[in-house]
Amino acid sequence: MPEGFSLSHCTSCNRPILPGTKAVRFNCPNCHQVLIWRDELCRKFSRRYKCVNCGFEGP
Ligand SMILES: [Zn+2]
Ligand SMILES: [Zn+2]
Repeated sequence: MPEGFSLSHCTSCNRPILPGTKAVRFNCPNCHQVLIWRDELCRKFSRRYKCVNCGFEGP
């Protein structure tokens, strides 16, 4: 693993996003400052996420 490498974490459940899983990432639709990660399970169950920057919550 290269130095400084760290796994991203699912914004909803905080589990690490493993390479090769069907996770999605997108910028916060409200402030566009924060990269939101959602793993496959959280997409499937439509778990809510919360932006750490602006507090926006979305499905
Ligand atoms: Zn998750
Ligand atoms: Zn935001």
